Amino acid sequence: MGVPGNAPDELASTELFAVDAYRHQFDATVAAVDHEGGRVKLARTAFYPGGGGQPCDLGTLRTPAGELAVTAVRRERGEIWHAVDGELPAVGQEVEGEVDWNRRFQLMRTHTALHILCGVIWADYGIPVTGGNMEPMKGRLDFPFPAMSADLGATIEKRINDEIARAHEIVVDFLPRSLADADPALIRTSANLIPQEIDPLRVIDIVGLDRQADGGTHVLSTAEVGGVRVTKTESKGKDNKRIRLEVVDPEGDHR
Ligand SMILES: [Zn+2]
Repeated sequence: MGVPGNAPDELASTELFAVDAYRHQFDATVAAVDHEGGRVKLARTAFYPGGGGQPCDLGTLRTPAGELAVTAVRRERGEIWHAVDGELPAVGQEVEGEVDWNRRFQLMRTHTALHILCGVIWADYGIPVTGGNMEPMKGRLDFPFPAMSADLGATIEKRINDEIARAHEIVVDFLPRSLADADPALIRTSANLIPQEIDPLRVIDIVGLDRQADGGTHVLSTAEVGGVRVTKTESKGKDNKRIRLEVVDPEGDHR
């Protein structure tokens, strides 16, 4: 997959997940070591540090001394730290990183499924999302629905699966703030609340369905999601309704 042409160079060369979600193997130099925290910073990484409801990646770092399990990844004051099990490599050491691809790809499918849900709810009801979370193959989003009928879950499930079948292309775009702040789709998803120094804004565009500022990793086509089952619609108080979904493999869906 090609790197988006308008990605900032610095980002494209250090935060590999931001420009190529499918890259799960990379080499890098150890840039800093935190002995107390048992973690390392790399000159570049394909490990997603978590954020926007998407959990961080797990995986391994290979050094000449052996293999280290990456047990957590997080961003702290802009820097991405990889917590590892075992003896820490030295600064300057070359390592090979490998993201647990099975888990990551499941999270990509799940994250995209949730954006499809956002797009469908906006298109059909004009209601914006207010919150959400996910784990591999499972997620939930909250919407300020005044009321929810019993069969809404089934209706939404069908709508999401129809959009999956349309195989919408998904584009990672980097938009200058001047354009982003005037973009109706980004306004409705409150992108204007993101600090102005974040410029350009990374946008996930499910072409023809949903556009939002987002730091996460997504599949390239809605078809890659497979299928979705809405498992629960629940009321979380007045004007807050929670929709839970599961991502399923099309051929594994024996309902
Ligand atoms: Zn998202």
